[in-house]
Amino acid sequence: MKAKITHLLAALTLIYATACAEEGKKEKAMETAEDTPSEPEQKVVKTDEEWKKILTPEQYYILREAGTERAYGEVYMDFKKQGEGAYHCAGCGALLFSSKEKFDSGCGWPSFYDPAKAENVVTKRDTSAGMVRIEVNCAKCDGHLGHVFEGEGFDTPSDKRYCINGVGLKFVPAADATDTVTEKE
Ligand SMILES: [Zn+2]
Repeated sequence: MKAKITHLLAALTLIYATACAEEGKKEKAMETAEDTPSEPEQKVVKTDEEWKKILTPEQYYILREAGTERAYGEVYMDFKKQGEGAYHCAGCGALLFSSKEKFDSGCGWPSFYDPAKAENVVTKRDTSAGMVRIEVNCAKCDGHLGHVFEGEGFDTPSDKRYCINGVGLKFVPAADATDTVTEKE
C-alpha cells in the first residue's frame, strides 16, 4: 500500500513538473514575442519588376543594385541647398536621416553623422570592389543607401560619416512635415 502511494506521488510530481515545464515554455515564448519588435511585419518586400514600376531607373540602380551616384552630381547640389527637413527612403518612405545630422564632409555625397531613426537603418560588411566597407541599407525595404565610415576626424558628435546616395533619398522640407496651414493673404 505504501509503495503504491509513493508511486502515485511520484507520478503526480512528474505530471506537475511536466506541466510547469510546459508553462515555462509558454511564458518564454510570450517573452520572446514581446521582445521582438514588430519590424518584420512592416518590411516592404517587392519583386524586381514591382520595384522597377515605382522607382526611376536611377533610383533602381542605387537602391536595388547597390549602385553609386556620381560625386558632386545634381542631386548633391540640391542636397546642399536644402534647409530643415527629413530624408526618407525613396523606395519605401521610411524615415532615415534629417537635416539635424547633416554635415558638410566635402566628399561630394550627402553626409550625415547619424541616422534620424536608428532602427530604420541597418549596416553590414561589404567586401565588394576590393575594399572592406560597411554598407548602409534601409531596414524596411533593404534598399542600398551608401556606406558609413568611422573615425575620420570630423568634428561631429559621432565622427561617423554616413556617405549616402542622394538619389535613394526623398527630402521632406520641415514646413511640409507639419500640419500648419499657412495663410497666403
Ligand atoms: Zn526603404
